[in-house]
Amino acid sequence: MASQSSKIEWTESTWNPVRGCTRVSEGCRFCYAERIAARFSGKGMAYEGLAENTKAGPRWTQQVRLIPELLDQPLKWKKSRRIFVNSMSDLFHEKVKLSEIQKVFSVMEKANSHQFQVLTKRADRLLEYNSKLPWPTNIWMGVSVEDERVTDRIDALRQTDAHIKFLSLEPLLGALPDLKTE
Ligand code: SF4
Repeated sequence: MASQSSKIEWTESTWNPVRGCTRVSEGCRFCYAERIAARFSGKGMAYEGLAENTKAGPRWTQQVRLIPELLDQPLKWKKSRRIFVNSMSDLFHEKVKLSEIQKVFSVMEKANSHQFQVLTKRADRLLEYNSKLPWPTNIWMGVSVEDERVTDRIDALRQTDAHIKFLSLEPLLGALPDLKTE
């Protein structure tokens, strides 16, 4: 489902070098990626084996994979743009190896005419690998926060070396405590 243009209002393009995910917190109950992946999970389709339709609805199967042939896609895009990385996965998912995350970061570093927006719910893993990743200024790093139970993701994001940090507060399922800016 890698695409050149995106309907997401805060970005211009999506790039999905990793496909597949698993639910990690309440915000994932509304996961559109899981629904789309289940729709395109038939034999020979892009999400084969990654999601399925169950009695409870679309569900990830626990499989996650890097798509090597999509890795250099942004390097082929000549026009500078804002790119949302992995709208169909979470780059810091437990099943994505550090070496694979580093490959994705290396492409972002090389494709420096673009701005990359990386959003994760796995902030602990992001922080764990922070020092092993390059942080060029064209990478925006964000965490999703849906309620007060997961505000530790913000603390982890703060401790990273990303130059531009952002929050996604959707779906906002509950009140958030006052967030200090320092
Ligand atoms: S982390 Fe994101 S892609 Fe993964 S299940 Fe949750 S909402 Fe979906």
